[in-house]
Amino acid sequence: MIGKMLGNRYEILEQIGNGGMSTVYKAKCHLLDRYVAIKVLKEDLTNDEDFVKKFRKESQAAASLSHPNIVNIYDVGYENIDGKDIHYIVMEYINGKTLKEIIKEKGKLNESEALNYSIQIAEALKHAHKNHIIHRDIKPHNIMITQDNIVKVTDFGIARAVTSSTITTTSNVLGSVYYFSPEQARGGYTDEKSDIYSLGIVMYEMLTGRVPFNGDTPIGVALKHVQDDIVPPIEENPNISPAFNKIILKCVQKKQVDRYQNVDELLLDLNNLKRNFNQLNSKILEDETMDMTKLIPPVNENLSSKNNNALTPNNYNNKNNSKKKTNIVAILAAFLIASLLFVGYLQLRNNQAANDLIITPNLVGKTEEEANRLAEEMGFEIEVIERVQSAEFEEGIIISQNVDEGVRIRKGFPIGIVVSLGFDNVEVPNLINKSISEAERLLKEAGLRIGNNIEYEFHDEIPIDYVISQSIEPYSVVTPNTRVDLVISKGPKDAEVIMIQLVGENINKAITDIRNLGLEVGEIKYEPSDNYQANIVTDQSHSPGSTIKKGTTIDLVVSSGQPVTPPTNPENPNEPEEPGNQEFSIKLTVTPFADKDETEITILRKQDGSSMTVYTGKHKPAEGSFDVTVFGKKGAVFEVYYDGIFQYSQSIEG
Ligand code: ATP
Ligand code: MG
Repeated sequence: MIGKMLGNRYEILEQIGNGGMSTVYKAKCHLLDRYVAIKVLKEDLTNDEDFVKKFRKESQAAASLSHPNIVNIYDVGYENIDGKDIHYIVMEYINGKTLKEIIKEKGKLNESEALNYSIQIAEALKHAHKNHIIHRDIKPHNIMITQDNIVKVTDFGIARAVTSSTITTTSNVLGSVYYFSPEQARGGYTDEKSDIYSLGIVMYEMLTGRVPFNGDTPIGVALKHVQDDIVPPIEENPNISPAFNKIILKCVQKKQVDRYQNVDELLLDLNNLKRNFNQLNSKILEDETMDMTKLIPPVNENLSSKNNNALTPNNYNNKNNSKKKTNIVAILAAFLIASLLFVGYLQLRNNQAANDLIITPNLVGKTEEEANRLAEEMGFEIEVIERVQSAEFEEGIIISQNVDEGVRIRKGFPIGIVVSLGFDNVEVPNLINKSISEAERLLKEAGLRIGNNIEYEFHDEIPIDYVISQSIEPYSVVTPNTRVDLVISKGPKDAEVIMIQLVGENINKAITDIRNLGLEVGEIKYEPSDNYQANIVTDQSHSPGSTIKKGTTIDLVVSSGQPVTPPTNPENPNEPEEPGNQEFSIKLTVTPFADKDETEITILRKQDGSSMTVYTGKHKPAEGSFDVTVFGKKGAVFEVYYDGIFQYSQSIEG
């Protein structure tokens, strides 16, 4: 393959990877002058028609995703070289390593690194799930990390193409089965929660350096996912925080209903953990004298108080690794002595003896009063960092603490806590006859969210972009964060407008004018023109001054520049147009940014060595994904930009 040219534009430079069903090459795209990665389907799989069909369908679906933590797919192609079928996907070239390589190099990652990666992987999943794409093969090989520590998840949905007929040919199933959810192992119903399970296994591996279930055969490993209990990661690596341990265990529950129900829930916990982490770190910096003692786990049984059992985090994993533990104890004891010598003078200066140390108790689940009593008894301080609404904890109950249970702290040291305010149900505001932006603001204020299903309908009284109806009655009482779907007005159906002159205008302005009049943009045809420059409208389907109904579709003809005089054929002056000049239409799916009020979507067409804007428009997130039809000759490449940021390109295949 090296040196070959695919699709007349991708020059294969070198092989960079080899997976179960494909080989990955670095290539140069000569059209756009950039490096890309090309995944070429293995030869034995190209004979499996069913597989190829699914593979193409899934990769095309994945190509619609656009997110900073997802590897961009630019193109899906097919070519026959020397009688061999070559199916390939062109994607963003990532200069970095796979997470698998990083884990192999480091053994285990530290908690903040693992947390940082986990959050980015979860963000990628959140975006895909929102677009109804489930990854189905989350594993460290499919997670790339750039040199700037940005996570890029790859191979979205492609695993769906793998069926039982192909599973035997793809040697890499063994690579994936370590991360399979029990329902995947059983061949059952998979959904978003299957990705959450696999991410749980990846988090487990990042923190402990190994996967929870091992075995020689795929079947053996799969069975363990279904039947065996997972050893909590904290038992493999006692240095990780109980909170992270808890998050992972919630991801890897056997039953889908026991896991996080969606990635948003998981992200909430991960981000909370990150916040606590940062607070703890800033505390450490503030109080340098605490630096050495605070982070040393409890080791000397005599130092801890009588109710030692309740205070050490290790009391549940002593049974079979006591030998390992004694070694650790010896090392830590040596470390402790050295540290105490080092900080000794600081402690003397603070007039504090070593036995002024206490071990942080667990405060989560206790009431604020209980915590205060404990604080007085043991001699630490309580500092309420935040009071937040919580559906899980009753009012006055502590949700989290910023110093982990079991950590040794100096007497008088403040432990930050987050306390529950319980959970108030909220009232749904009346959104009818409010503009979309006003409705969004009101929902946010009430602690609710705008739904995923926004519909547009004509309405005689309610003006364009105002709410006609809402999925939950105004003033009903619901739980916080409930989503409210809306029906938005497109204005009166039968209203009439007077058509304006568009000929002579720039196409971008003409499109905006058509929309502002409540009309729809129809077919846009590019034709050479003697009288008008490129991108100027030369004809419109409805003449200026005529009265037309709102919602009418307006077709336009736009100049593509001066006509090129074809070499005349003296024998046959009526020769039909060269096939190379024929125009084709192609649909491009675009999606406004969900987190911006408005996204400017621009499509550039590159054809015959020149580039022109064929579409531009401002769109709100509520509009969701939609298709834009554009025109061009064979080989034309369309580049899609959101707010000037390149998203993907697609070409009219020749
Ligand atoms: P599977 O076939 O089950 O997905 P896999 O993930 O190990 O297995 P591939 O997806 O074929 O295999 O990828 C093989 C290797 O190619 C990766 O491990 C990675 O090193 C490299 N690679 C994949 N995609 C890219 C990319 N976009 N940029 C740079 N390198 C990549
Ligand atoms: Mg892969």
